[in-house]
Amino acid sequence: MKQELLRTPVPFVAASGYAQTHAWVHALQQAMPDERIVAFDELSELEKQLVTVAIVANPDPANLQQMPALRWVHSVWAGVERLVADLGQSHLKIVRLVDPQLAETMAEAVLAWTLFLHRNMPAYAQQQKCSQWLPLEYVRPQSKTVSLLGLGALGEAAVKRLLAAGFQVCGWSRSQKHIAGVDCFSGESGLSEMLARTSILVCLLPLTPDTKGLLNAARLAQLPKGASLINFARGAIVSDADLQAALDCRHLQHAVLDVFETEPLPAASWHWQHPQVTVLPHISAPTDKQTASAIVAGNIRRYRDEGRLPVLVDVGRGY
Ligand code: NAP
Repeated sequence: MKQELLRTPVPFVAASGYAQTHAWVHALQQAMPDERIVAFDELSELEKQLVTVAIVANPDPANLQQMPALRWVHSVWAGVERLVADLGQSHLKIVRLVDPQLAETMAEAVLAWTLFLHRNMPAYAQQQKCSQWLPLEYVRPQSKTVSLLGLGALGEAAVKRLLAAGFQVCGWSRSQKHIAGVDCFSGESGLSEMLARTSILVCLLPLTPDTKGLLNAARLAQLPKGASLINFARGAIVSDADLQAALDCRHLQHAVLDVFETEPLPAASWHWQHPQVTVLPHISAPTDKQTASAIVAGNIRRYRDEGRLPVLVDVGRGY
């Protein structure tokens, strides 16, 4: 019997009732023909005792606890705040998805919605509702500054597209970065400096104890009057009440929101009807099952062959 056939299966562990489990198991199996990928519910009791690595999508921690030999979990999402909250105190190591395709998809979304704001599409949509023919002044992208909160895997890819489109680009990260053509900032004073010169602010930060509520009234007030916000990261990074107030008083011109504290966004939420808000249903960068499965496969192969774990999530930092 081939050595691979003796290996314990790799379970895919998702929230109960997750509709995409079968599709994920199929994509992962295609990418890993030498492994046996099974939905968690299909593991035998003996297999549960032997499993050392699991692939996860919002797993129920109680299911992970049923696998005593489990060493690490590989998330198929880039954002891992929930895993960190659920598993941060346990011995389990967490690996998140870092997929160049995901970064390109997000960069495309950042460019698309930046151009949406840059070319005044929200204003023209309102004008059309009132049969109003009113050309607004054209401002060149070179005269606008797009600032990114977060210069990680997604932020760096977005930077390239924004520079190519002609915008001035700034970025803020925890550690100081040096990226050609980008004014990079770090720290609290760096954030203030960056916000003060921003036309369009794009949030691509992870949700951590440090970033929760980061965009509050005081920081939104540091943006110039008429600036706009794109939040493609996590809803809780922005103080919702402070955002509403900043929009209502027209300090902020518009907000494109793809992420919310409660998803799906409840029907009664103020965002739906607000004329200065564009609501998106968490679609800025969906995971591509095929490319993500290839990344996961490579990481599991290196673990099997060389005992090497991929770069781990730092649970202390929260990302
Ligand atoms: P990443 O590679 O870990 O990058 C995170 C960036 O944020 C890094 O530059 C990091 O600084 C910076 N950062 C973290 N904490 C900070 C703090 N307290 N102060 C200043 N900067 C801080 O993450 P990523 O892969 O780019 O993903 C970012 C987030 O996007 C994910 O966590 C997820 O929530 C979200 N996301 C959303 C969607 C969607 O469809 N809406 C899809 C995928 C991901 P350092 O470089 O110094 O570490």
